[in-house]
Amino acid sequence: MTAPWMLPDFDDHEAVHIFRDPAAGLTAIIAIHSTHLGPAGGGTRFWHYVDPNAAMTDALRLSRGMSYKNAMAGLAMGGGKAVILADADLNKSPALIAAFARAVDSQGGRYVTAQDVGISAQDIIDIGKGTRFVSGLPPRAGGAGGDPGPSTALGVFLGVKAAIKRGLGKDDVAGVHVAIQGVGSVGGGLARHLAKAGAKLTLADRDAARAKALAAELGATVVNAEDIMTIEADVLSPCALGAILNDHSIPALKVPVVAGGANNQLARPEHGAAVQARGILYAPDYVINAGGIINVALQYLDDADHAAVDAKIAGIPDRLNAIWDESAATGDHPAMVADRMAQKLIGRG
Ligand code: NAD
Repeated sequence: MTAPWMLPDFDDHEAVHIFRDPAAGLTAIIAIHSTHLGPAGGGTRFWHYVDPNAAMTDALRLSRGMSYKNAMAGLAMGGGKAVILADADLNKSPALIAAFARAVDSQGGRYVTAQDVGISAQDIIDIGKGTRFVSGLPPRAGGAGGDPGPSTALGVFLGVKAAIKRGLGKDDVAGVHVAIQGVGSVGGGLARHLAKAGAKLTLADRDAARAKALAAELGATVVNAEDIMTIEADVLSPCALGAILNDHSIPALKVPVVAGGANNQLARPEHGAAVQARGILYAPDYVINAGGIINVALQYLDDADHAAVDAKIAGIPDRLNAIWDESAATGDHPAMVADRMAQKLIGRG
């Protein structure tokens, strides 16, 4: 394995730990990017990687992303990420989970884990039996935590409204045409908020029946999944896949605003400039989709009530406006500005 600090994604991470427990079948990495603002929060990914360098690169890249996301969400949390290197059959035994919990616990709270790809809600409960440094456990009545989807959808809705005001000069969402790619947990929740506010909706999902059912409920229009990126609308809201803003899609966009909940929407950093060059207002993904992490983090940090979560989510439009203000003043595209603001917040600006 290449030394982590020799990999391109190493960004002066505070610590990178490797754990091996052959009896339990565990090989795991915990990457701690920053604890400047608080314990390094970030989920655990359970994945079969082509080689250890790919796993390390993922841990480094994702932990830095969590630093930025948590900072821009206004949370007292740093950024970290764990990766468990699964075998090709993705075998996950109770012994492996228990060994991983011991690894998390050994950090004494510098790293706080959560769910990510390949880790279920039940896995989180099981990890919680071996360490208290775990977030996303089932919520108490009226408390923060639980499914992050509705909180993410609320934040994206508020962010879309802010983008409509900024990009179209409209205070009212009524009659504004929003095209939503992916109507699962986040996109579906967003569609319901927007429908209630009187927006005109066009929906698309790879699962056509899902889009059709929601459209019937909300009085929306449905298009094929392959057509949503080129639809003429006021706002495109990507709520499905990453890397959908790319060399191929950006020239074909027919919207003045892109604001949605999907992670990693820009295929490469330079696509932020390409979107800006087309005169399209972009809401940086990790800022607009922070509602879910706010929900999970406030449960861990404060055992907060849901009302406190919603109050914090209500700050997302202000953060987006600050980004767009600086973007207008400097000419730098919004994603670049968001990264720069995050770096300052974690003491690296
Ligand atoms: P989900 O699985 O509930 O929904 C995703 C939907 O997108 C599904 O209905 C799926 O059929 C559809 N889809 C997949 N590929 C598609 C395509 N090519 N065209 C159209 N539709 C397609 O997932 P989710 O939790 O709603 O997450 C959606 C996005 O938001 C992901 O990028 C996720 O990483 C991001 N996100 C989610 C949360 C959260 O709290 N759930 C938080 C932050 C970011």
